[in-house]
Amino acid sequence: MIDGSLTRKAQKQLYKAAREFKLDTNLLKILEKPMRTLKVSIPIKLDNGKTKVFTGFRCQYNNAIGPTKGGVRYHPNVSEDEVVALAAWMTWKCALLDLPYGGAKGGIICDPTKLSEAELERLTRRYTTEIMPILGPHIDIPAPDVYTTSKTMAWIMDTFSMFKGYTEPSIVTGKPEILGGSKGRKEATGKGLAIITREFFKAQKKSLKGAKIAVQGFGNVGGHAALFLSKMGATVVAASDASGCLVNPGGLDIPRLMECVEKYACIIKHPGKQIHRDELLFQDVDVLIPAALEDQIHKNNASKIKAKVIVEGANGPITPEGDEILEKRGVDVIPDILANAGGVVVSHLEWVQALSGLYWEEEQVNAELERKMVKAFKQVWDKATKRKVTLRCAAYLAAIERIAEVYRYRGLFP
Ligand code: NAD
Repeated sequence: MIDGSLTRKAQKQLYKAAREFKLDTNLLKILEKPMRTLKVSIPIKLDNGKTKVFTGFRCQYNNAIGPTKGGVRYHPNVSEDEVVALAAWMTWKCALLDLPYGGAKGGIICDPTKLSEAELERLTRRYTTEIMPILGPHIDIPAPDVYTTSKTMAWIMDTFSMFKGYTEPSIVTGKPEILGGSKGRKEATGKGLAIITREFFKAQKKSLKGAKIAVQGFGNVGGHAALFLSKMGATVVAASDASGCLVNPGGLDIPRLMECVEKYACIIKHPGKQIHRDELLFQDVDVLIPAALEDQIHKNNASKIKAKVIVEGANGPITPEGDEILEKRGVDVIPDILANAGGVVVSHLEWVQALSGLYWEEEQVNAELERKMVKAFKQVWDKATKRKVTLRCAAYLAAIERIAEVYRYRGLFP
């Protein structure tokens, strides 16, 4: 990764907030390290009859508040370092959003685009089996992340249920609706991001109408964020994915772009003006939404960003060095643990529905998402204004305050 290890980056963000909060150093010693990380070998039979052994991880960072929660990622760049950092961010995110969860993350080092569906199914089922000793609806609840989908979650749920001898829908979230998935879950992260962006504009007494937006990573998060922001009156002038970048100063037709990506899994199949994929970051826009992967904005390119505000759709898209440059330049950054928390908010609602056996209408899910996101934004905004710190620092403060309070009551076992 650029600018150092990802876990180190997560730690630096924690230390900054800990200094501001004057966090008890004994508690910091606990929070700077993951509770446990399981590394597993995953042997599967490929379609050609050969055996291949993949490596996977599941990190449960901290469970002081409740069972751990976090996605599973399939990507060639997955590493223990990445999984630990992502699990730490999940811990702060769940605490900030007032959810009864700790944080976790999992992943398998693989290129899912080079595996058949049957191979992906075997990989998922064997990975589930290997991490079974630390999985459970009250222990750790996986969800989708990069290159994993509702289908992946269905395989995890089925594998877990087969071992237990009963059907257990509350073991994963982000499932297909027919298996107990929540209405509104697929759109939730992008919708939550749009709500946070709207609240930011409102707090600044500015209008979102006509605001120019660029979205890096037109996948689940980026695509839905673009859709809901354009419905709110903003103009999405640039969007990219791994295949390339499309621009239109008059505004891209987001629903048609989503149809194209659904059909061809690649944005540049849609007609329109193209620029180099990485030029997206430097477009003259009001809002930049990095919604692809981590470390996209760093010390070598942060000074070239023209956007006035960056809303982090991806986890960790800005390095601490990049963050410092943006802060000095007066670019506001709405941090990932707030901006992309809509997914885990609705995942929590999905878990509650599965545990209770009562399923909600979409309006009820969306109303709860709206309520939670607006409340968390207000908390972060008020803290940042009062303490004169960045929104990232304020979000960390709110999260750590909650975890510190939990430790104060629970004490340290034994
Ligand atoms: P996704 O696989 O649906 O989308 C990722 C997109 O990024 C794809 O369109 C891919 O082509 C694109 N991409 C990859 N490399 C790129 C590059 N260099 N330049 C431009 N685009 C590139 O994944 P997702 O679920 O939308 O997740 C995206 C990010 O959001 C990840 O960091 C993930 O951890 C985070 N996130 C996801 C959720 C969720 O609910 N899905 C929730 C919170 C955070």
